[in-house]
Amino acid sequence: MKRRDFIASSVLGASALALSACHRAEENSEEGSVNRLKTKKVTLKLATSWPAHFPIMGTGVDNFAKRCFELSGGSLEIKVFPKNILVPALQVFDATSAAQIDAFHSGVYYWKGKNPAFSIFGGMPLGLTSEEMITWMKFGGGYELWREMYAKFNLYPLIGGTTGPQMGGWFKKEINTLADLKGLKMRIPGLGGEVMKKLGVNPVLLPAGEIYTSLERGTIDATEWVGPALDSMMGFAKAAPFYYTGWHEPGSILEITFNKARWEKLSKEHQAIITAASEEMTGNMLCEFRYKNAKALQELPKNVQIKTFPKVMMDAAKVALGEVLKDESAKSADFKRALTSYEAFVSINKPWDDISTKNFLEIRG
Ligand code: CA
Repeated sequence: MKRRDFIASSVLGASALALSACHRAEENSEEGSVNRLKTKKVTLKLATSWPAHFPIMGTGVDNFAKRCFELSGGSLEIKVFPKNILVPALQVFDATSAAQIDAFHSGVYYWKGKNPAFSIFGGMPLGLTSEEMITWMKFGGGYELWREMYAKFNLYPLIGGTTGPQMGGWFKKEINTLADLKGLKMRIPGLGGEVMKKLGVNPVLLPAGEIYTSLERGTIDATEWVGPALDSMMGFAKAAPFYYTGWHEPGSILEITFNKARWEKLSKEHQAIITAASEEMTGNMLCEFRYKNAKALQELPKNVQIKTFPKVMMDAAKVALGEVLKDESAKSADFKRALTSYEAFVSINKPWDDISTKNFLEIRG
């Protein structure tokens, strides 16, 4: 039902209307004509890791493309291709690097295998929130390192949205002690999965389409996904009713990344428009996730029980995370450099956060 509603009201229809309105406005305005004469029309192909018009992430990138078109007076057209149309979901990085396509929209943590440091730019378990991650990127040196490391793959990255805090996942059984984690099979990617492994969990990677069936059949015992808004669509509540609060993805970063040579050939105006549209997208996506998660939380099925992991587990997770970061730093100089920059930001951010946001939220209650 929800899915049908979503397709019916998809952004495709909305953006088509907006685009034709934009064309009409352009034809009727003097500025539009001047702009058309001044700026050569550019068309770029962007592939995503999501299904067509996937809520929030997919519709976010649809809107980004629409905004680039509007802001450029129609001189910059970004054609968005959902997963598996031009390239498979998790080959968008390679395809953009090899200039088979111009750009991609995806999650940074998917590319840990290319360079372990990329998992830090994607977000840290028990680490920075979305707002804090963006602050590190923009003001604390994160962007410089990310761009330097992506340049080796002929890529130029921009933050392209962020999820806000994610939930800890859906479990078939309650977790009360560390022993309850031993041998548990859980779908959990990235550094969160590495930490869980140290706690005795068997982390597995599954494509989105296979998670629900695996949970229902008992092939896996638990899964994380995103938050109430997107998790509800997956039907996890039927198979695993214990819904745990989050710790492993407090502020995951998504990216709009361009082939670097292609990016450098764009005019300064088009680069500025893309940068501005990506910032707008990031702010909007964070708010959209917050609002839709808050709404979806009110509408979860009655059998769902919201739980928080026991303190003994989170204490063990903190120790395990320290070990994972130490192991990765020993293996990769880039990981160590990114972590050093990240931790330098944490050390100046935390005292301020403690007396501002954290303190206020405790007072507000
Ligand atoms: Ca997740």
